[in-house]
Amino acid sequence: MVQTESRAKVTSWGDLLKLEERPAVISPPEIGYLGFTQEQGRWVHSQLTGFGLPLDRLVGVRYTANEEKTKNTLGMCTQNNEVGVIDLFKSLEKLPREAQCGTMAHELAHLNHPDQAVNLNAYGSQEKMDEVQNFVHSVADQTIATGKYLNGYQRVLVEQFNNGQIDRARLDHETFAILVELRFTNSAHLQQVDQAQKMHGGKVRLMTGMFSGKAEGIDVALMALTKKNSVEELRQHLTKVKDGFRSGKPL
Ligand SMILES: [Zn+2]
Repeated sequence: MVQTESRAKVTSWGDLLKLEERPAVISPPEIGYLGFTQEQGRWVHSQLTGFGLPLDRLVGVRYTANEEKTKNTLGMCTQNNEVGVIDLFKSLEKLPREAQCGTMAHELAHLNHPDQAVNLNAYGSQEKMDEVQNFVHSVADQTIATGKYLNGYQRVLVEQFNNGQIDRARLDHETFAILVELRFTNSAHLQQVDQAQKMHGGKVRLMTGMFSGKAEGIDVALMALTKKNSVEELRQHLTKVKDGFRSGKPL
């Protein structure tokens, strides 16, 4: 009886992750912060909220010490079909604020991936999800073909994929998160990699509409997820978010 009662009153996200059904206690969902000082927790919360990406499935953010097997890890997203938890690792302390924010955007992107049916509402339609997935798949194809990587992490992932250590779905998942991260933190770099891949025969039209003024590439996903009606609205939002990286106390 005691066990049944305590199970019915679960309120911590750690317990929630083990449940198969969404319990009534997380409606509306609340995000729990663990391991942060109050000030850090507030800062992380304001950054996560500021991206404008859906937070519906995020139930917890944890500040986690690096262990041997996570010594190079900055962030991690653990999820089931309903809810997810983001781990931010203490190795972030040594990095500039933009890298900390980029890691948050990356992990939040994992929770908003277009291949999960649970995210249908966030995208608005299956067609939109398919469009984004096809784009991401093409970018990963193009990266493999050209050897021009979005960043050092994608280089490692492509090596792991070529060695059979990870499957294609994982490579695509990470490529999506890297694209989102870069669009928030360093669009100019995204543009450069885009150009470099094109010079090596890449066929993806554009990774971002930042210069074309049209909804292209990863902007299609971000416009849907942040509910922006035009590339210009998205551009203004991204500028505001980037300005926000400069304020507040980093980890
Ligand atoms: Zn990732």
